[in-house]
Amino acid sequence: MSLDTLKSLQQQLAAKQVSARELATDYLAKIDAANPQINAFITVDRDGALAAADAADRAIAAGKAGPLTGLPIAHKDIFCTEGVLTTCGSKMLASFTSPYDATVVARLKAAGVVSLGKTNLDEFAMGSTNESSHFGAVKNPWNLAHVPGGSSGGSAAAIAAGMVPAATGTDTGGSIRQPAGFCGITGIKPTYGTVSRYGMIAYASSLDQGGPMARTAEDCALLLDAMTGFDERDSTSLQRAASNTAAELDKPLDGLRIGLPTEYFGEGLADDVRTTIEAALAELRKLGATTVEVSLPNTRLAIPAYYVIAPAEASSNLSRFDGVRYGHRAAAYKDLAEMYSKSRAEGFGAEVKRRILVGTYVLSHGYYDAYYIKAQQLRRLIAEDFKQALTQCDVIAGPVAPTTAPALGALADDPVRMYLSDIYTIAVNLAGLPALSAPCGFGADGLPVGLQLIGNYFAEGRLLNVAHRFQQATDWHARRPA
Ligand code: GLN
Repeated sequence: MSLDTLKSLQQQLAAKQVSARELATDYLAKIDAANPQINAFITVDRDGALAAADAADRAIAAGKAGPLTGLPIAHKDIFCTEGVLTTCGSKMLASFTSPYDATVVARLKAAGVVSLGKTNLDEFAMGSTNESSHFGAVKNPWNLAHVPGGSSGGSAAAIAAGMVPAATGTDTGGSIRQPAGFCGITGIKPTYGTVSRYGMIAYASSLDQGGPMARTAEDCALLLDAMTGFDERDSTSLQRAASNTAAELDKPLDGLRIGLPTEYFGEGLADDVRTTIEAALAELRKLGATTVEVSLPNTRLAIPAYYVIAPAEASSNLSRFDGVRYGHRAAAYKDLAEMYSKSRAEGFGAEVKRRILVGTYVLSHGYYDAYYIKAQQLRRLIAEDFKQALTQCDVIAGPVAPTTAPALGALADDPVRMYLSDIYTIAVNLAGLPALSAPCGFGADGLPVGLQLIGNYFAEGRLLNVAHRFQQATDWHARRPA
């Protein structure tokens, strides 16, 4: 299969069939051709990419290349990149150039990866459709009238449109998995604490986790293993060695027990998504897995708990954008207080303001116990649900979203309906577990459907193994939009 996967590009580089510079040039041309329509990139770093590609070619010529040397990727514009515009999809940071690299960016750079630029996202990663970006909505390459999902919609659309073979994303409540599902690519949200959050602009710190997005599980493994590992600059980074998920990819699936949560197949799941997921489960059974029904009884509490905890943390994290040190500052103001309030009023979009308002409210005196503490208690119950279910199975499977990608504008005026569409992804972040989305077919509208696989803590290798085996037996991941 001639797919432009990282794996195949790696082989072409090793066989000297292509140079890193040729790869970078080729993908930059693809971005130039497709981006005006898709709007997946906020910044294309042409000079930086070519310089990194030349350095990669020198390393290859000197026999000093690693497995990722010369491979082109893109970074979600939530990761700080030294000397490159870092906007987080916000007017607040529309002209902010980061003075340093996020740990994820630095690690991938050190591994020889060539960054082509920064991808579009919902403002401060708040959203499920990519429509809240200050830089405009991203279009789904499978149907330009539909959203790519969010918040990592730019990364997902860029990969689906062939503008880049892989990209980074972040997932606070589903932002890697859901756009991966909507765009027909693969993406994994790792166990909380395994990928450093240093230099990843904070949304909800106890939930945020970076991870890779690519066409295949194999490519995700390649990137993930280079992204993970302890970082003393992230206070919640786990003292663990970097992962080696690539080593687990080929394990047979014989005896694998897959748990199917009753609550993920109930009311609200679109029929075409259900049929597609059931067909994928049948394929996994053919590969040696067995399925068992499990229950996650507190699923319905996940969205209410998340929409207390995430805004609470966001309201605190976003207080740093005050117009003083960096970011947007109002042009005219009469005193310091007005400078703060005008800068923030002008710099933040509606969804971000909504979250800050909710967050400060639930943290305020008198409501803290009623909302914030309660939500933390629910969070514990939700984590216990998974713990219980994972005693009966090795991985949990289900849809990543109840429908395929909605039409642009369909959820724009209805934030609560948008929040509800995260029903299958959000609980995973509350529990801190790893989960991925892999393409497994198409809905009635011809848009991709994602199969979600959820594992126990540190089971990224097993999840990628199941997805890789599935991808060896199917070709959904190889389908391309017209
Ligand atoms: N859609 C969810 C939200 O708006 C999740 C976003 C994310 O994972 N960053 O908060």
